Amino acid sequence: MKKWEKEGYLELSDLKLPNEEQLKKGVAIIECIQQIPCNPCVDACPKKAISMKDINALPEIDYEKCIGCGKCIEVCPGLAIFLVKIVGKEAMVSIPYEFIPLPKEGSIVKALDRRGNEICDARVEKVKKGKTNVVTIRVPSNYAMEARNIEV
Ligand code: SF4
Ligand code: SF4
Repeated sequence: MKKWEKEGYLELSDLKLPNEEQLKKGVAIIECIQQIPCNPCVDACPKKAISMKDINALPEIDYEKCIGCGKCIEVCPGLAIFLVKIVGKEAMVSIPYEFIPLPKEGSIVKALDRRGNEICDARVEKVKKGKTNVVTIRVPSNYAMEARNIEV
């Protein structure tokens, strides 16, 4: 049994990570680990950057093809896709967010890691309402691959 199956959360070593240049461009980080029949992320991608060997396989992303459009985030029923873009010493992290009330753009919230632990303050840059709401926060760049939720 893998560690995440016992502990209930992922670690960076469980993920295929983008390189520095890809993070500066802005790419989707797919944290999908359950092999269930599901593939809307594949169909949503305009660049065919996400592929699956079959409907029950885990999605794989080609960071070179990804343009960071975020379309895959909104269609993922597992809330398993994030968008990360490094901008100087900060990172923009887009998070699928199903709680209400939604945070206000410009407000300061707490960024949480995958375990739900508070890691830093985050500024809410954008709130995009849709099938799944997507909240984009700004955090120090060292938290780019850690900030995965917010507390409003
Ligand atoms: S962010 Fe856009 S280009 Fe990148 S994988 Fe998702 S849908 Fe495709
Ligand atoms: S849509 Fe989400 S849950 Fe479904 S395969 Fe893609 S990443 Fe996984």
